[in-house]
This record gives sequence, structure tokens and C-alpha cells, in this order.
Amino acid sequence: MKRSQSFGAVVGLLVVATVVARRRGYRIGGNVVVRCRQGHLSTTIWVPGVKLKGLDLGLAKLQHCPVGQHWSLVTPVRESTLTDEELRSAKSHHDLWVP
Ligand SMILES: [Zn+2]
Repeated sequence: MKRSQSFGAVVGLLVVATVVARRRGYRIGGNVVVRCRQGHLSTTIWVPGVKLKGLDLGLAKLQHCPVGQHWSLVTPVRESTLTDEELRSAKSHHDLWVP
């Protein structure tokens, strides 16, 4: 397979994964609300398949929790399942990546 073809296949797969996740109610591929193992809510930039800020495990990834200041596995949360207060709290804790 030529390099350009395999690149196209990878991009195609990422697009499909993003569409599937969105159909399930997750806003993947931008600002998403995530919950860490200790229940803290925050927002992060989530780009599927791209290891921007942590170890991407598909629907969970290891990253630094800006609320509890600890490392944890985080998973995306459907915004529709949160109360207004939870949503506000999550949006006020945006995970800023400092290399
Ligand atoms: Zn936390």
C-alpha cells in the first residue's frame, strides 16, 4: 500500500470512530467533560487516536486531574447526565496542558 493510501485509511478510521462516539452521545474530538476515578469533573481536549496529553486507551485515558491535582484514568461523561452545577464546575476546571 502506498503511504498516501494508508494515511487516508487511518484518517478514515478516526472519522468513523468520532462519528460513532458522537452518535452515542459523547462529544469526542473537542472539549469534552471527563470524570476521574475519584469523581472529579473537568473538561479536556479529546482527540481520538491522538496522544496529545496522555495515554489514550480509547474511551479512557490517563491524565492529570486539574481538580484533585493527581494522575488518574478519566472517562468522558455525557453532558446531558450532569446537573447545571456539575456542568459549570466541570467547565471551570479546564485541563491546561503545560509541557
Ligand atoms: Zn480527580
